[in-house]
Amino acid sequence: MDIQNVGIVGAGQMGSGIAHVMAVAGYEVLLTDITQDALDAALATISKNMDRQVAKGILTDADKAAALARINVTLTLADLGPSDLIIEAATERETVKQAIFDELLPHLADHTILTSNTSSISITRLASRTDRPEKFMGFHFMNPVPIMQLVELIRGIATDKETYDACLQVVEKIGKTAASAEDFPAFIVNRILMPMINEAVYTLYEGVGSVQSIDQSMKLGANHPMGPLELADFIGLDTCLAIMNVLHDGLADTKYRPCPLLTKYVEAGWLGRKTQRGFYDYRGEVPVPTR
Ligand code: NAD
Repeated sequence: MDIQNVGIVGAGQMGSGIAHVMAVAGYEVLLTDITQDALDAALATISKNMDRQVAKGILTDADKAAALARINVTLTLADLGPSDLIIEAATERETVKQAIFDELLPHLADHTILTSNTSSISITRLASRTDRPEKFMGFHFMNPVPIMQLVELIRGIATDKETYDACLQVVEKIGKTAASAEDFPAFIVNRILMPMINEAVYTLYEGVGSVQSIDQSMKLGANHPMGPLELADFIGLDTCLAIMNVLHDGLADTKYRPCPLLTKYVEAGWLGRKTQRGFYDYRGEVPVPTR
């Protein structure tokens, strides 16, 4: 199957990044969200991130203009129906994703491949509630999308080979590398990464180290490019908590219990960079630890 146009649901950190790389690779993109503000912010972010690529010589000004011209936006989810491929990248909550698929289903073309960028939710379960489990799979980008090389491709129990191959071709066309993951909670990257981040929050909660000493220890002692708390702020603490809950519920093992301090930050609305406060406060010139 030859995919030419891509519908993207959710214009947040991930949806805007996915729109960016798809448009640069030559796909026609239709992006939707629930508010015009979210769509405007996404277009501004995409343009700014493309400027960075122009400055680095990755894109020319003409490439940027052509890519931006390939991105259209709409507030009407049903407009995405005829797309060859739909990537759902809305908030990491199963009820939200479910409602999106329910609303989309009556408008889909027969050939449309439906995918979710979920970090952790069962692809098989999401697929089972659609009319096309064989044309449904996980298409999991990493953040920030224009920079990170990996895409995890996750087959649900019913996903057919044609669908997998079509998605693999898209990954290759956008110049990224696919890793095939089985459909178990949080797949590969987050199954390993999130318990480490959660453990870093426990290390803070139990007073073993401060925000700064934990991040510095992992940067200088384990050669990680970012500390785990800094990385959690970057990912979004609500997303981190949602993934820990999926691991905890899905694998029924107490080793995945989310740290109460992570829950508290989310309850406070301190979700990391996207709300300007998380384990660090980003409102000033330099990030300042909040504990
Ligand atoms: P985000 O909060 O930045 O963006 C989510 C967007 O979805 C928001 O703009 C919101 O308005 C929109 N949305 C919510 N309900 C909607 C609806 N009914 N219709 C259309 N849009 C709707 O979140 P994000 O970080 O971009 O995460 C999105 C998805 O990508 C989640 O499933 C998350 O698990 C996954 N993901 C996130 C990361 C990460 O590092 N943040 C990495 C890989 C995958």
